[in-house]
Amino acid sequence: MRIVALAGGIGGARFLRGLLAAVGPQDEITVIGNTGDDIHLYGLKVCPDLDTVMYTLGGGINEEQGWGRTDETWSIKAEMKEYGVGPEWFGLGDRDFATHLVRSQMLTAGYSLSQVTEALCVRWKPGVRLLPMSDDRVETHVRITDEQGTRAIHFQEYWVKLHAAVDAEAIIPVGADTAKPAPGVLEAIAEADVILFPPSNPVVSIGSILAVPGIREAVAAAPAPVVGLSPIIGGAPVRGMADKVLAAVGVEATADAVALNYGSALIDGWLVDTADEASVAAVEAAGIACRAVPLLMTDVEATAEMARAALALAEQVRK
Ligand code: GDP
Ligand code: CA
Repeated sequence: MRIVALAGGIGGARFLRGLLAAVGPQDEITVIGNTGDDIHLYGLKVCPDLDTVMYTLGGGINEEQGWGRTDETWSIKAEMKEYGVGPEWFGLGDRDFATHLVRSQMLTAGYSLSQVTEALCVRWKPGVRLLPMSDDRVETHVRITDEQGTRAIHFQEYWVKLHAAVDAEAIIPVGADTAKPAPGVLEAIAEADVILFPPSNPVVSIGSILAVPGIREAVAAAPAPVVGLSPIIGGAPVRGMADKVLAAVGVEATADAVALNYGSALIDGWLVDTADEASVAAVEAAGIACRAVPLLMTDVEATAEMARAALALAEQVRK
């Protein structure tokens, strides 16, 4: 079976680990990764979501943090600080730096981000084909108003530096309007047997991927069933501040509101947590098949069970 999954960082990566445990060796998984979180730091191109997927599936992730490398050290960061060079708020460890150096070196030499990602995956062997959503530069910005006035800041500044403590007024995927899907992305969607939306952030992870012209249309037109899993349980994100960016696009932070925001034109099936059993009816009324199952990714087996539930629902809604 050919499975395509759209993925952000932590939520996407952890789900994919369970999906890999749930499927067989004959199944092929293509992951379309969000690159809207990408940022240039110290002259280096950093792709946090692609790296989180790569490190998580390749066994190199810092499990407690959910991002960055295992057994990390921070000498470079300390040296940069001695020079007075920031940003101090973004955590790039020494081992992680090597990834960004290799990536940036290859990009400077003329390779595309897809080619670079493939090369990095030779080391990490994630067990999936990892494609960036686009080889073109797309950067999510967030409009805020604070004592400095109204301005748009990079998503990482909003998320990591400000911890989403200020209201997000708008989410702007800068560059998305002219970006093209990376090679293989539209083909993978068109040829998929199942398309999954992991419990990734619906706005700044899945939403950014869908903002690349052609991807949303391809998913909507795909013959494969499309099934998503709610990142919202009991009216709040399981981890992080997704409620802040949902508010920016006028969507309530509930499992059913997120499903309705994707809409029946895009998704055929939706899984909510058992805590949200009451929202099943509203989702089904919108023409989306919905089931309530445990959705906490407490360990790989619990996550594999979520993946099995998503694949089972895909079979039920297959046309
Ligand atoms: P990011 O790029 O690192 O923010 O990661 P993603 O966008 O892939 O995923 C973030 C989302 O994962 C958040 O909105 C969380 O609510 C969701 N999430 C994290 N852990 C769990 C979990 O155990 N279960 C579910 N259902 N969602 C989760
Ligand atoms: Ca992310």
